[in-house]
Amino acid sequence: MVLDKLGGSLRDVLKKIANSSNVDQALIKEVVRDIQRALLQADVNVQLALHLSKEVERRALTEKPKPGMSSREHVIHTIYEELVKIVGAKREVAKGRQVIMMVGLYGQGKTTTTGKLAKHFKKKGHNVGLIAADVHRPAAYDQLSQIGKLVGVPVFGIPGEKKADKVVASGLKEFASNDVVIIDTSGRHALEDDLIDEIKRVSKIAQPTEKILVIDAAVGQQAGPQAKAFHEAVGVTGVIITKLDGSAKGGGAMSAVSETKASVLFTGTGEHVEDLEPFIPDRFISRLLGMGDLTSLLEKARESIDEEEAEETVKKMMSGKFTLIEMRKQMEMLSNMGPLQKVMGMIPGFSGKMSDEDLAKTQERLRRFKVMMSSMTQAELEEPKLIKGTRITRIARGSGVDPTEVRELLHQFNQSKKQMKGILGNRKMRRQLMKQFGKEGLEQFKE
Ligand code: GDP
Repeated sequence: MVLDKLGGSLRDVLKKIANSSNVDQALIKEVVRDIQRALLQADVNVQLALHLSKEVERRALTEKPKPGMSSREHVIHTIYEELVKIVGAKREVAKGRQVIMMVGLYGQGKTTTTGKLAKHFKKKGHNVGLIAADVHRPAAYDQLSQIGKLVGVPVFGIPGEKKADKVVASGLKEFASNDVVIIDTSGRHALEDDLIDEIKRVSKIAQPTEKILVIDAAVGQQAGPQAKAFHEAVGVTGVIITKLDGSAKGGGAMSAVSETKASVLFTGTGEHVEDLEPFIPDRFISRLLGMGDLTSLLEKARESIDEEEAEETVKKMMSGKFTLIEMRKQMEMLSNMGPLQKVMGMIPGFSGKMSDEDLAKTQERLRRFKVMMSSMTQAELEEPKLIKGTRITRIARGSGVDPTEVRELLHQFNQSKKQMKGILGNRKMRRQLMKQFGKEGLEQFKE
């Protein structure tokens, strides 16, 4: 993720607190300076960075920790809460029939995001239709049609028609019975009068339930004035920040948008249609801080593999029954979820600790493990303790590997079992990790 650098600096700050023997004024001052520096480097507005660090300082020095919380935990929790405040409040797209109008300047990722949203709603079981109302860019209709094909939703457009409101009127008729209609409107290099007029006309005809502004994270703090200008022109109801995977200025864009009181609804984190994430401030910050986010992980797992199977696997893991079969399913879930890198950040204890090289090695190991598992009997998979002596030789021969690799797999299994027991088996820890920094959450910052 883009905000890696910011996340890294903030994690260092938290580590400093976790490793300190004593929380005193000198430590707080130092920590506050570090936080300011980290925020400014991520392009967060100076006033906002100052305000946040002042608040952290004030609360850390004057507030009493909640019962059961140490003063170190209290400071960490305060930093977390103040960061959540600057990225804004949580807001979701309303339920019921939705007509969503997408607006934004040229090149910000509007058309791509229209496709991502279509996929998002389709996956939730909605009947989605797309209207190609970018009548000025000749290739816009083709681009949207391709995305529509990829996602599997119908696209309405009138090639050659120059009046956006006409296209929209016909499109709405075409999709009268669809529950989500998304309109991709034209972009320009700047918010000019003719673009405003056109959006207003489209808006009048479409009566959109949501007007979503798409902004590239790379514009940094400029996202603020952009959101404000669009809001004054057409009344923006939500913002999607794109390209968070590629810009160091994401912190600036997010905080600037939240300052205008427009809520960030989703973030775009890649060029592919699945690279869209609902924006949930506290979850976003816990990931940024490397707390790991079990809730997201479980949700993603649920989306990528059969829902019942995922639930069954998770239930088994939680009940302490963890065999090679569960480990294989766990691996499959991980590899189905796209690049491991994205997933690793969500697992408590793994956050930010793996290099690309290690990741590639892990993926290769997973592949070999699966081959070995396919040479095992059902009884062995369910009771890995059986795998000894000649069974090891048989499995190694069957899968064309050295017996040491089979032993390595068994070792890995025992380690995973221990970890799963620790992470998922402990309800209290799970709850605490999900909600806030607790004692266990704190441990991972100690080296
Ligand atoms: P539009 O002019 O606003 O409709 O922009 P497009 O949807 O055509 O996107 C412009 C470029 O940005 C394309 O090359 C997209 O692939 C790319 N893009 C859009 N969203 C993202 C994102 O979240 N991450 C990355 N890396 N690229 C994106």
